[in-house]
Amino acid sequence: MLNEFVIQYDKAVTARRAAEEDEDFKTMNSKPILSSVSLIEAKADKIDVTCSCAKFETYGILCKHILYMSP
Ligand SMILES: [Zn+2]
Repeated sequence: MLNEFVIQYDKAVTARRAAEEDEDFKTMNSKPILSSVSLIEAKADKIDVTCSCAKFETYGILCKHILYMSP
């Protein structure tokens, strides 16, 4: 019974990882849908927005670096 649980758990984790990878791929290869008419948001749509400390990419934490826009 424990063995069956471990097998099912591994399958569930594998499926979630695959779904997350699919969503990451879609995010990296698509344009965002703008939700406001903010000039900053419109400008960010046209250039790469980076977070040099990688806190956002790694932990999901927004910091001051997320506002840096490189041309
Ligand atoms: Zn930062």
